[in-house]
Amino acid sequence: MSLPIYLVGARGCGKTTVGQSLAQALGYAFSDTDKHLQQTTGLTVTEIVAAEGWQGFRRRETASLQAVTVANSVIATGGGMVLAAENRQFMREQGRVIYLKADAEVLAARLEAYPEQAQRPTLTGRPIAEEMVEVLAAREALYHEASHYIINAMQHPDSVTDEIISVLALARAS
Ligand code: ADP
Ligand code: MG
Repeated sequence: MSLPIYLVGARGCGKTTVGQSLAQALGYAFSDTDKHLQQTTGLTVTEIVAAEGWQGFRRRETASLQAVTVANSVIATGGGMVLAAENRQFMREQGRVIYLKADAEVLAARLEAYPEQAQRPTLTGRPIAEEMVEVLAAREALYHEASHYIINAMQHPDSVTDEIISVLALARAS
């Protein structure tokens, strides 16, 4: 049995993309806290925020994190998962936490290229590039505090996956 691997980082850093390929390479299950939240509530993130505010969303997010935490799994977390000290502590205690680090301009470019994947409402109502600078400034220390390893997420997703396997000293499934 291996501890769960949590991927943390801002929207667009590749948690879902890399998480799926990492899970496949290791023969682990993959789960995504945002997706779990949507499937269990039947609501989109936008709808939850509209109905319950960000506070309600954050509370449900913590429940999703705990629900998807099982051995032999890769867990992609919502970009704001690290905001709660409870979540940071939980992830560090339960598994190994990887921060996928990328510059604000890179994140903004990815989200602008695929707006359909960036359905979450903006946090500030300002242009995405400006928002990413602000979000990273506010969260960078928390991503560091939450994580055991920091990986450069501005390389090909296959390289990001390989680097995670390497730092965790894990072997590919086949
Ligand atoms: P997250 O789950 O962290 O929000 P995603 O995995 O959904 O991020 O990726 C956001 C977008 O960026 C997707 O369109 C994805 O294809 C692209 N992407 C993810 N990782 C990389 C990468 N390492 N290099 C280039 N594009 C990437
Ligand atoms: Mg994602």
